[in-house]
Amino acid sequence: MNLDSRVYVAGHRGLVGSAILRRLQGAGYGDLLTRTSGELDLTDAREVDAFFGEERPEYIFLAAAKVGGILANNDYPADFIRENLAIELNVIDAAHRWGVEKLLFLGSSCIYPKFAPQPMREEHLLTGELEPTNRPYAVAKIAGIELCRAYNAQHGTDFVSVMPTNLYGPNDNFDPETSHVLPALLRRFHEARERGEPSVTVWGTGSPRREFLHVDDLADACVFLMERYSGSEPVNIGVGEDVSIAELAEVVGEVVGYEGEVVFDTSKPDGTPRKLLDVGKLSGMGWRAATPLKAGMASTYKWFLANRPVETPE
Ligand code: GDP
Repeated sequence: MNLDSRVYVAGHRGLVGSAILRRLQGAGYGDLLTRTSGELDLTDAREVDAFFGEERPEYIFLAAAKVGGILANNDYPADFIRENLAIELNVIDAAHRWGVEKLLFLGSSCIYPKFAPQPMREEHLLTGELEPTNRPYAVAKIAGIELCRAYNAQHGTDFVSVMPTNLYGPNDNFDPETSHVLPALLRRFHEARERGEPSVTVWGTGSPRREFLHVDDLADACVFLMERYSGSEPVNIGVGEDVSIAELAEVVGEVVGYEGEVVFDTSKPDGTPRKLLDVGKLSGMGWRAATPLKAGMASTYKWFLANRPVETPE
């Protein structure tokens, strides 16, 4: 891939796609292709085919996906499996038929088995039971990885898959009901400070451990792998370290400047005790995440302040 290559970022308005687009723009890539979902429905094979025929992308970052938290996955399981399967099948198949040079498919760390050993290595994929709450989503994402592998084997394509850990950053979902823990706490601590509340609630016991990667680091790793990695084995992308939810809440308090008490609501579920990726493969290639958690959180908080939805008075 070079600065003149025609690069299509599928899903450029999402958390991941927007970060990849920023990264490519910043590096001086001059022929970037994007389409909103209104302009191009990736679940429609004929539309996808027509797009490839007209635009002839050379490199593709496949970051388009239907994503959501546990509630959304629970309420719309058919949408999650159907839309993700359709997007992957249409884009990966068109990429093969139109002779795309290389494609990078975004998987997810939540597709590893529920009881995978920690830290999770790439070869743990498909070795055990999945977490039931997002199984339709996970099966679709695993199918995407398998599509890449199968097309490489049968057609000699250069399609690679990556497995990002929990991500955060600009364009994240800050909705209190459906967001993940980091944006949820940034918003809740912010609102508690604004309203002068003496305490703020964090779900669960505070003891589960999670790994958090800034999405700009993910984008950097994706471009790094597009330039340097070929192969059908997926590559984990993470920071290689985790923090407890209680530690996370402490950092959120510092970033937001909230000095009240933190209360743990143990009626809420903890979920899995630990979720950490083994990033040995990627670090062996010479890549490391650059953004410390506190700095990444501070810039995400700034983004939230500039872009947050208007609050409804209570
Ligand atoms: P998970 O990694 O799939 O479990 O996703 P989450 O990001 O939703 O949750 C991670 C951990 O943070 C769990 O132990 C939650 O109980 C805990 N947590 C604490 N407060 C919150 C919150 O306000 N929202 C969410 N989503 N999780 C929270």
